[in-house]
Amino acid sequence: MPDFSEATRQLAAAIGAEQVRTDEPSRFAASFDNSRFSFMPAAVVLPRDEADIAALLRLANKHRVPVTVRGAGSGCAGAAAPLRGGWVLQLAHWTDIEIDAAASLAHVRPGALTGDIADAAAAHALFYPPDPSSVKYCTIGGNIATNAGGLRAAKYGVCRDYVLGLEGFLPTGEFVRWGAPLRKYVSGYNMKDLWIGSEGTLGVITKAVLKLIPRPLLRHTFLTAFATDEAALAAAVALLSAHVAPSVLEFLDTQTVACAEQRNGFPVFPKTELAADSVGDGNDDGAAGGVPAVLLVEVDGSHPDALAADAERVREWARRHARAFRETADVAEAEKLWNVRRTCSQAMFLLGNAKLNEDIVVPLSGYAPLIQFTREIKARTGLATPTFGHAADGNFHIHIMYDRDDAAQCRRAEEGILLMMQKVVELGGAITGEHGIGITKSPFLRLQHTPAEIAAMLAIKRALDPNNILAPDQIFEVTNVWEHRPVKVTLPWDKH
Ligand SMILES: Cc1cc2nc3c(=O)[nH]c(=O)nc-3n(C[C@H](O)[C@H](O)[C@H](O)COP(=O)(O)OP(=O)(O)OC[C@H]3O[C@@H](n4cnc5c(N)ncnc54)[C@H](O)[C@@H]3O)c2cc1C
Repeated sequence: MPDFSEATRQLAAAIGAEQVRTDEPSRFAASFDNSRFSFMPAAVVLPRDEADIAALLRLANKHRVPVTVRGAGSGCAGAAAPLRGGWVLQLAHWTDIEIDAAASLAHVRPGALTGDIADAAAAHALFYPPDPSSVKYCTIGGNIATNAGGLRAAKYGVCRDYVLGLEGFLPTGEFVRWGAPLRKYVSGYNMKDLWIGSEGTLGVITKAVLKLIPRPLLRHTFLTAFATDEAALAAAVALLSAHVAPSVLEFLDTQTVACAEQRNGFPVFPKTELAADSVGDGNDDGAAGGVPAVLLVEVDGSHPDALAADAERVREWARRHARAFRETADVAEAEKLWNVRRTCSQAMFLLGNAKLNEDIVVPLSGYAPLIQFTREIKARTGLATPTFGHAADGNFHIHIMYDRDDAAQCRRAEEGILLMMQKVVELGGAITGEHGIGITKSPFLRLQHTPAEIAAMLAIKRALDPNNILAPDQIFEVTNVWEHRPVKVTLPWDKH
């Protein structure tokens, strides 16, 4: 690792020593994201203002110091992990939110938490819909840089659909504005959309203008149970084909539901409500045992009659397809129906102390083959493959659970994910729908893109960042992360 101490000394002299943290706890805290791969940076920089960022980027270019921009560090692809050390540019403390209710706009700084933006909008009866499950602790800067999706994406779209304007710095340190606080804007190249989803490789976002919409006042929630994973997915396709636009359509396979039931200590549906000979056991494709596959469905709106009509269509669909279902229009009651979805991610750690968590996308025709393939991977690797996700847009979170202390299991998990990615591309899908490529998915980029496509993307990167300062090695470098001798961090909730 190059020695950045002289550059760091110059940075401290330029912007103030108190903005440049070199103590070990600060550096460690900024060394990893939710991928849990940890690489120690030389310093963590907390800028006071734009001038500090400009100075940092100028020095980074002069001394060739890698710069990794960081929000909350909740990203899953290692994009905020400083693989080559250097400086972490921490922006989580830039949290300003200003709502322009008359114009239905939010002016935000990148460190504003997504949930706080939604709450600030709600106080004006406005709605900022993108809702990643990490909404309470992820930042809007991270959301924009990964084009984050969420539970309501099928009806309301993803982060990109709400960003009207961005301000920030090119990697070379020049200040730029892309887009504007306007509903229409086609001046020049659409650089705003190029920055969105670029995972901190093309610029530093310092401000964003977000579009807000009227808040839907009512919602109706259904929890539906199916005999098998395939039955649940076929029902999801049937619902979408009936042109109902659910705001939420979350799928949980039987392996996932079994974990949630075990962790919660009670079944999602009492066995008396389910025919015992026709629901899965959480282990295979649907033998007896009492564990259903589940779809959580929500419709929303502001007109009671319109919502009642939508709810009736979902009810008819549930009667036709589901083995059992529950429903409510009451917000507090709905929280109980959401319990299985909220607990499932952590509950999976009952199946292993580590997981590979992918966020692939498949078209409707790929739903059944995908879930069958997860079980094939399970059979081939001997590792559990619980799967859940956003069935309305084909964005499924497939997991391979393993024991981090068992080298053979680690290898089999990596092999399983490679097979999975190959299958996803074969099904006409995408290797990531919302987490991004980062470093963890860079080995699969060439499955998705042709050499010409990658060359075009790299040409843009080189043009905007000639010294390869911002997040070098993210996305394009086929990174064998382990060669960089990372520490794999264990977080308290990984243990069970
Ligand atoms: C439990 C859990 C659930 C999750 N659920 C979802 C989900 O439903 N949908 C979803 O999309 N994601 C989800 N995620 C992933 C993660 O929360 C998102 O990727 C989120 O957008 C990351 O935000 P962050 O502030 O943590 O960014 P970080 O992890 O700090 O950074 C992510 C990327 O953004 C870049 N970046 C951050 N700030 C800036 C900036 N100001 N300028 C330029 N680049 C910047 C970083 O360099 C990095 O490339 C989940 C994560 C967890 C742990």
